[in-house]
Amino acid sequence: MTTSFNPTPRTLMGPGPSDVHPRILSALGRPTIGHLDPEFVGMMDEVKTMLQYAFQTKNELTIAVSAPGSAGMETCFVNLIEAGDTVIVCQNGVFGGRMKENVERVGATAIMVEDDWGKAVDVAKVEAALEANPGTKAVCFVHAETSTGAISDAKAICDIAHQHGALTIVDAVTSLGGSELRVDDWGIDAIYSGTQKCLSCVPGISPVSLNERAIEVIKNRKTKVHSWFLDLNLVMAYWGGEGKRAYHHTAPVNALYGLHESLVMLQEEGLENAWARHQKNHLALKAGLEAMGLEFVVNEESRLPQLNAVTIPEGVDEAAVRTTLLNQFNLEIGAGLGALAGKVWRIGLMGYSSRAENILLCLGALDAVLTDMGAKINSGAAIPAAQALMK
Ligand SMILES: *Cc1c(COP(=O)(O)O)cnc(C)c1O
Repeated sequence: MTTSFNPTPRTLMGPGPSDVHPRILSALGRPTIGHLDPEFVGMMDEVKTMLQYAFQTKNELTIAVSAPGSAGMETCFVNLIEAGDTVIVCQNGVFGGRMKENVERVGATAIMVEDDWGKAVDVAKVEAALEANPGTKAVCFVHAETSTGAISDAKAICDIAHQHGALTIVDAVTSLGGSELRVDDWGIDAIYSGTQKCLSCVPGISPVSLNERAIEVIKNRKTKVHSWFLDLNLVMAYWGGEGKRAYHHTAPVNALYGLHESLVMLQEEGLENAWARHQKNHLALKAGLEAMGLEFVVNEESRLPQLNAVTIPEGVDEAAVRTTLLNQFNLEIGAGLGALAGKVWRIGLMGYSSRAENILLCLGALDAVLTDMGAKINSGAAIPAAQALMK
């Protein structure tokens, strides 16, 4: 007979999900109540207020879509973009390619602005594309490219887009809670994120926020939104305050308890302190990895603290290393994705995973496994180098 599933506890240092804090895990186990129960509705209002804090926005339309980050992405595209529109899509990794898919699937034209994987989006190229394509409806880009570990200058891209009258759609799945992000100050019109990266909640929910300008665009659509489930006109009626809440779908009640708890923890820590913690821990991990002899893919000024992509020492079977880390150390790190598959490891320091003991575990385990495989690394150098930055 099949028995209960009890996963081996792992330390999650890949591209997500990240380690879920015990406080969040215990919130998930609280009694399920009805999703229209006044207590639950009150909790959802708190989630909304705390998401506004996390996004640094006053946007009324700030909600948690009941599905993973990819659904937040799709929510923005199916609502804002219509057949016949022209959209500039910046691609410097895997996730920009998904934006292109979304644009084309609604029947719009994607003008690609491509940068090398591992580089930030080049603002001058975005400007040139806007000049070459008057009437562009939106510019979309990934703030923190999880496939490469590069962060782009969201404010500069939004400024240039607005100068040309275009909306901005921003993927902040990996940046929310981990890197500076200011939706209102930077003029981001539509943004989506995920819960399983720097918020350290369980996967399956996607925070999104749209400003008045974006809502106007939705209200003035020529055609009905093609997705019933993601149609924000309907979702807004479900989330929108005013005491009356129309049934649209059953919210993932317990998962939202988890998100609520993770946002309470973010408030307790302070958003700016969370950003600073991610940066400090990144510097300690970086010191250790470099002391060992591994090199970063992304240059220093575009480097994402929560996702560290490093090259693999010559002659090393990268998949075998990851398997050994998982089997012997219960440690997960990420493989390369897309153009970087087989060429890099992606070491995540996201949310609750971003802490000193994880850094030391990862460096010690990598050192042991690589040394055992006979790789050419500076054995024993990593931990002292990281420790020096932890005092
Ligand atoms: C993880 C991720 C996504 C997709 O999120 P899911 O929750 O896996 O659907 C989208 N964009 C970026 C940048 C991501 O890192």
